[in-house]
Amino acid sequence: MHKVKNLVVGAGLSGAVLAERIATQLKEEVLVIDRRAHVAGNVYDFKHACGITVQRYGPHIFRTDNKQIWDYLSTFTAWHKFCLHVSAWVDGRYIVLPFNLHTLYQVFAADKAAQLEKKLLAVFGLGAKVPVLQMQSNPDEDLRLLGQYVYEKIFANYTRKQWGKPAQEVDPAVLARVPVHISRDDGYFQEAYQAIPARGYTHMVENMLRHPLITVQLNTSFEQIKNNIAYERLFYTGPIDAFFDCRFGPLPYRSLRFEIEQKNTEYFQPTAVVNYPNDFAFTRVCEHKYFLDEKAPVTVVSFEYPQAFKPGENEPYYPINNPQTDALYQQYAKEAAQLPGVYFYGRLGGYKYYSMEQAVAAALDLFEKIKSGKK
Ligand code: FAD
Ligand code: UDP
Repeated sequence: MHKVKNLVVGAGLSGAVLAERIATQLKEEVLVIDRRAHVAGNVYDFKHACGITVQRYGPHIFRTDNKQIWDYLSTFTAWHKFCLHVSAWVDGRYIVLPFNLHTLYQVFAADKAAQLEKKLLAVFGLGAKVPVLQMQSNPDEDLRLLGQYVYEKIFANYTRKQWGKPAQEVDPAVLARVPVHISRDDGYFQEAYQAIPARGYTHMVENMLRHPLITVQLNTSFEQIKNNIAYERLFYTGPIDAFFDCRFGPLPYRSLRFEIEQKNTEYFQPTAVVNYPNDFAFTRVCEHKYFLDEKAPVTVVSFEYPQAFKPGENEPYYPINNPQTDALYQQYAKEAAQLPGVYFYGRLGGYKYYSMEQAVAAALDLFEKIKSGKK
């Protein structure tokens, strides 16, 4: 029986934070395993043959208002400041997302747009961020119709593709991630710090894991080794339901298929990300050279096709949070609390639609509790 003090399952951002903290702060040995052939989990990126850094699992922009988290990650990487701009392909042309006052003038005649702008400013105020569902239920008929328009042109079909069910059945908080901006602010995100590691995410995670007390073992699943390994603490960032053999029933996840293609043109699209709400089977196309502003005569794009999650066949990229699935998750969380020295966290272990910032924050929080003996 192989013995380790700390076993971390998953070499994604969540796993890397815990491993780094335990090694550097507690000065204890950590074995990190991942069933994939690389570290960094879903933030993994690599240099394509044409020299462009490609984010293998979709567009990732780090964003936070929390200076502590920014400073923490800054010890492992320099940053390339990056504000994400997104377009949507609607009715045969590109429009600006999130829907904002500029978009209003792109889709309506100037006099109608001006009239709507006036109402939007009067009702919500300059700078407001209004979820589309809220706009649709406004007592003012013009605003309701505008909400309806935005919902139909941008949200209804994209959401059906992305989640495989009608938008009405999706948690409203998911649609509210991309509110209508009552301003000309066309930044997709609002946080004070928005950036991409200057040498890529993989490089940042490798730096986190580079420590004499940390051993990384790739191509290794927990299931493969669990009967031959003893540990004092287990940090598990894989799907919590699978750990318990889905004894209360499987938690639902949504998967994706990424088609990565080199295109023999300098630029393929006007912005790093273009959403396709109503056309094609893919939801969005990401052009990777934008992220680090890399220059090349060719370009690399990835098409994102939403898929049903099939265990063993594809990856559980998104937890599908709603009151029922959160209740099911709680059953697993209760079971998990019975296991001393075993901690579930991360996007899959905690079953939460975490951004990177939230994943890092949750991992740091867990570490502090362990360090202070509260867990
Ligand atoms: P993961 O990255 O999923 O890592 C878990 C790791 O555990 C994986 O490598 C997996 O192989 C491994 N594992 C699982 N089970 C086992 C097992 N049984 N044995 C061994 N290994 C196992 N966040 C942002 O902040 N900004 C963005 O722009 C952004 N864009 C995103 C776009 C997409 C398409 C997706 C899917 C997510 C995006 N995110 C974004 C969220 C971000 O990817 C996550 O917050 C972050 O990667 C979570 O890290 P994690 O370590 O918790 O999980
Ligand atoms: N959404 C949409 N149309 C868009 C962009 C977003 O309908 O053009 C909805 C969709 O339901 C999506 C959610 O808003 O899942 C959140 O969008 P975001 O871009 O944050 O998705 P993520 O990057 O997390 O996949």
